[in-house]
Amino acid sequence: MDLVLATNFDDQLPAEARDLPVKTYFGGFPYSLTGAGRPPHILPAITPERFREHLERIHESGRVFYATVNSTDLGLKEYQEGFRARFLQEVGRLLELGTDGFVVALPLLVEIIHREYPDVPISVSTFSRLRTVAQGEYFLRMGARTLVLEEANRDLRLIRGLVRAGAEVEILVNQTCIHDCPYRAHHLNTSSLVSQDGTPGIPFEVPILECGLQMLKDPTLLVSSIWVRPEDLSLYEAAGVHRFKVSGRNRSTPWLLRSARAYSQRRYDGNLLDILSYVQVKGPLQALGSLSPTALSDPEIASVRDAFERMQHVSIDNSAFPPDFLRRVLATDCAHLSCKECGYCGSVAQKVVRIDGRPLSEYRPPAPSLQAESLLRHLRPEASAAAVPPTVS
Ligand code: SF4
Repeated sequence: MDLVLATNFDDQLPAEARDLPVKTYFGGFPYSLTGAGRPPHILPAITPERFREHLERIHESGRVFYATVNSTDLGLKEYQEGFRARFLQEVGRLLELGTDGFVVALPLLVEIIHREYPDVPISVSTFSRLRTVAQGEYFLRMGARTLVLEEANRDLRLIRGLVRAGAEVEILVNQTCIHDCPYRAHHLNTSSLVSQDGTPGIPFEVPILECGLQMLKDPTLLVSSIWVRPEDLSLYEAAGVHRFKVSGRNRSTPWLLRSARAYSQRRYDGNLLDILSYVQVKGPLQALGSLSPTALSDPEIASVRDAFERMQHVSIDNSAFPPDFLRRVLATDCAHLSCKECGYCGSVAQKVVRIDGRPLSEYRPPAPSLQAESLLRHLRPEASAAAVPPTVS
């Protein structure tokens, strides 16, 4: 098994992960010319020197490092004179600092990097949202070697097709994104734009608030989300998957080690959320903290805040899943079926999910009518400023 693990730029991470099958680390600067896959306010504020030193530690441990250049939106910079030269300058700087490969989403950036550095490996990011073999083949022809999937994690026919097309396939395993998320495009563009040099900071990501509200209304989404349990990796290996990717660039070193260890051991007996991203609560609670006192006294908003606070204490008992859980999901035509009509993930959620120590059957969702839009109207303008961490150049 090969794991690809996020780094938080703590040197203890490569030192303590030496016994794990981590072959590659990934990460990047909070800000860059193109932007990338995470908003700067959640990432470690590293300097170029720290970046170089950390990559030296990674290389000493016999592993390699890929830099994330996985923006989905260049803010029209690609039309500006000198964009290509400035981008290549940044790529060259990342290579000079010790980068071994790149994680890229936009075809234009794949082509520029590959033309200039044909031997440097490129992984196509989950941000490219691959859903068909033909999409994967375009990227392979542009020079990419690896295709990383996330949204299509439960499409084994696609995975087999990409492997047959000659791709090395990587599966991102520990994100709690809801299945078929309607906020995803907005979310990826938000991260890409806010992490570009000179962009003013944001205090939270609107799409995560929207996603969090969906989860409050229907916590069974915790089970139908796109994560993969450590126990189920062999199904993917049988389909030809080459590597498993574990995210968490904003997480502590013990957290990253715990998650990587669980996947390397193909087993975790505790709360599944201990090893999953579970991003839907922290950001929304921060957003609600930015509301004016008048807004917070509104009973509807207060009930949402209370519900998010309870959702901080969710557990998913990983030992209580039916042994054939993933096989059963994979055998279902989820894309053409209403989850209400199917009901399988909901029935499993009743067995494995507890909220604030109580079974799901006792959970009462907050006002179903509440939407992110009505919360945004109450945001205080001063809450939208954020500090600017360092950039690559
Ligand atoms: S269709 Fe059924 S198996 Fe598929 S995600 Fe929905 S509830 Fe789960």
